[in-house]
Amino acid sequence: MTTFEELHVTQKIVNVLKEEGIVTATDIQEKTIPLVHEGKDVIGISRTGSGKTAAFGVPLLEKMNIGKGVQGLVLAPTRELANQISIELRKWGHSIGVTVATIFGGVAMDPQIRAIQRSEVIVATPGRMLDHLMRGNVNLSKVAFFVLDEADKMVEMGFIEDIEKILSATPSQKQILLFGATISNEVDDIRSRHMHNVVVAETELHVQKDLLEQYYYNVNTNEKFSLLVHLLKQEKTGRVIIFCSKRSTVELVNKNLRNHGIKAEMLHGKMSQNKRLTVIERFNKGKTDYLVASSVAARGLDIKDVTHVFNYDLSKDPQEYVHRVGRTARAGESGKAITLLSPQDHGCFHAIFNRYDIDAHELQAGSVPRLKFEVQQQRNSFGDRGNSYHGNNGGGYNPRRRSFGDGPSARHPRHGENSHSRFGSRTER
Ligand code: ADP
Ligand code: MG
Repeated sequence: MTTFEELHVTQKIVNVLKEEGIVTATDIQEKTIPLVHEGKDVIGISRTGSGKTAAFGVPLLEKMNIGKGVQGLVLAPTRELANQISIELRKWGHSIGVTVATIFGGVAMDPQIRAIQRSEVIVATPGRMLDHLMRGNVNLSKVAFFVLDEADKMVEMGFIEDIEKILSATPSQKQILLFGATISNEVDDIRSRHMHNVVVAETELHVQKDLLEQYYYNVNTNEKFSLLVHLLKQEKTGRVIIFCSKRSTVELVNKNLRNHGIKAEMLHGKMSQNKRLTVIERFNKGKTDYLVASSVAARGLDIKDVTHVFNYDLSKDPQEYVHRVGRTARAGESGKAITLLSPQDHGCFHAIFNRYDIDAHELQAGSVPRLKFEVQQQRNSFGDRGNSYHGNNGGGYNPRRRSFGDGPSARHPRHGENSHSRFGSRTER
């Protein structure tokens, strides 16, 4: 256990961290803070929730000369993330007089221009940053520290050209820090073109098994929703994120949860900027306990105290599973990840098992009352094939054989084990 003092972090920042209950460094912080102090270009790879913001943020803040213009630039893929990073940097930076400007689209330019003028650090999304640059609102000629957070996500979102343009407006002599939970080949291009003396600091990317319990249910597609509601009521949940791979599913699940008396809120990329920020704030403040989200919208965000992550369905990209389940069991807290696996998800789940050494246990749903799931305005509802189901009798996923769809295995659905009574009144035929 290394303390921040031992990492030679400025005492004033150490004190602020202590007030937040942060005393010993995480692995990635322990590895990267000394490298940044030494002036190295760093690629830091570690799981979501492992404290990457402080890993680059603290040493960056320490290097700022107050009142000498913008010297630190942090780019992040989404507005929410830029906002979150700024909040943290501001908190730490305040203790040593560093001012941080937050720059993202969807809001007025003028206040941002004023903020840029009095700041040493800018945290920005690439699009709006480039906008300011093109309009001559910002001078990046003194940038000595350039951070790309969630770099692979930015590349994935098509920001690579914007990033290149922004990079070219900065001096060639600077320190580049590149962070993420994964680093793709495209990101390697940035490395080869712009980085020197690179040190790669990688900590275990995989799921933190000791703190994260992972479960899955084999279930038919049209039974997923009923099972989800059942589990939400049965499990002792605190804050819950329900991930769906498509925006349309996010909308449907959210609407149906609300129809069934669960006050969920949703988060997806097509929502307005303000709406997204409001939803995240409400969730973080505990005003809502159920967030139905697309993975992209929730990537990299520090949402605290999530007790459960549900995968309503799976994304084709196996990495996404790690990102999603990484929303819980953060910073030493334990958490549960529960995947609802219908036949369509078997391929994706198989890929996840192949790629990551995950430790997920199958659970049996038992008897779950069938709930109405509205697909469109009052039309086409599922749930008209009887009012309960008893597990999925064939073709479930079996990780031991690393296979799926091969008929009944040793699973014995325990009929009626989970009581109907808790929400039997909502059962629909
Ligand atoms: P990442 O960027 O790796 O996903 P964050 O920087 O968002 O992770 O940090 C996740 C959470 O962990 C935050 O709430 C942060 O305050 C907390 N945290 C960061 N560093 C530490 C630490 N050394 N000890 C305890 N908690 C920490
Ligand atoms: Mg982060």
